[in-house]
Amino acid sequence: MTDNRIEENSDLYEHSLEELTDEELKTLKNTRLNYTVNFVYHNNSFYRQVMEEKGLTPSDFETTEDLKKLPVIDSDTLRQNQPPFSDENEFKSEDTNVKRPFSTSGTSGVPKKVLKSFDEMERIYDDLKRGHESYGVTSEDVILNWFPFVGLNPSGAYTEGWIERLGAMSLPLLNTDYPTDYETALLKQYSPDVITGLASHVDAKGRAFEHLEGFDPKEIGVDIITLSGEPVTKNRKEHISKVFGSEVYDFLASTETGGIAYECPEGNHYHILDDSVHVEVLDGGYNRLDEGEEGKLVVTNLLHPGEESSMPLLRYNMGDIVSKYFENSGDCECSISGVTNISAPKREAWEFIIGAVNLNAKYIEDKVYENEEIKEVVEGYQVRLDYDEKEGDVMNILLETKDDHYLGDKTEGVSLSNSSRSPSYEVGRKILDGDQYLKDTVENVGAAKINVEFVEGINMPPGKPERIVDNR
Ligand SMILES: [Zn+2]
Repeated sequence: MTDNRIEENSDLYEHSLEELTDEELKTLKNTRLNYTVNFVYHNNSFYRQVMEEKGLTPSDFETTEDLKKLPVIDSDTLRQNQPPFSDENEFKSEDTNVKRPFSTSGTSGVPKKVLKSFDEMERIYDDLKRGHESYGVTSEDVILNWFPFVGLNPSGAYTEGWIERLGAMSLPLLNTDYPTDYETALLKQYSPDVITGLASHVDAKGRAFEHLEGFDPKEIGVDIITLSGEPVTKNRKEHISKVFGSEVYDFLASTETGGIAYECPEGNHYHILDDSVHVEVLDGGYNRLDEGEEGKLVVTNLLHPGEESSMPLLRYNMGDIVSKYFENSGDCECSISGVTNISAPKREAWEFIIGAVNLNAKYIEDKVYENEEIKEVVEGYQVRLDYDEKEGDVMNILLETKDDHYLGDKTEGVSLSNSSRSPSYEVGRKILDGDQYLKDTVENVGAAKINVEFVEGINMPPGKPERIVDNR
């Protein structure tokens, strides 16, 4: 880990993150936190105002523990402090050049504008490069960049950045639903070693390839696939792995904060990029939870000393739920040790309540992909929630397929006493059986109903798939 912009002379920065002792890492994080708070206090009207109102100065922030003196901000706070609600973007650092403006997709209302300086982009490239290197990606590899280069979406640009940083060859191809001969010819010619993209896009493309005559995705010879941009289940990863014959790893990153964590190659948890972000796991009232408890993922950017950031975020609520959290958990089975781990994140916006039972769309995805045959034919899914005076909450699970054998198959009111053995019933039954509370609510209380249907297409806005539509 080298960083030319770091001003202080410290041996700490000669180490790679994995080699730092707990004490060294703590010192490094506290130094970066102190720099970050100083930077926002002098450059950023939003944070300066917050600190002044609370009578705080940068000297009140000696360690990451002091972050609790600041309020947690969420995506609504970002939206309200940018046009059109505010004339100015109050999160923008006043004298810092913006290299690139980005924006979230805006499927949930007003998009969030995100501004990145040259320094920030460089730090994000470094973080993503380092994560990929830990999976064994090297400058010798050819890397297929399957992220969408859509408008102000940053993932395609970030990916080009870290690939260039690594010195590897990038193959940025448009990821469409329908593979062309041109595309398969390019893939055969360049035979990429690594694919990186959105889980749903990579999955859909793999399925589309499988339908092509005379082309097996395994022939591409991809060793490693890295996913990012949306939560993904273990079952779905396994499917992608089987289709391409590759190792599959997930990255946690966001438009707002850049890289956050990468999946451990040895286990079902993620390693935090501890020297670029500080992570807290908080309850609904934003109080700190004990290690191992499930809560909201709150992230603070740790600027590298000397870094000029257009839009640093402190205590930003990611809208993700993580269920486990270990600080300095000691040696992992992989080579990365002594850093913070979290469990696979679930998106909070994917949470919903049906008949007083809390569910997450990730649970539905997991159950759909549990069945080997159904996993092969389902290309996408959506959960639509309705309310019926007689039935109570109704959960309609739409499964997208192009397979005639499944198309039109539908089960209304999945229950354990149904005698049907149709595919839609099998999916519904797995969902019902996998959650004791849901089973109780549907079977005994009768407060909710589950319908499952295979459909040809699901209307979704472009960009990331919309998993939950709540019409209640
Ligand atoms: Zn590990």
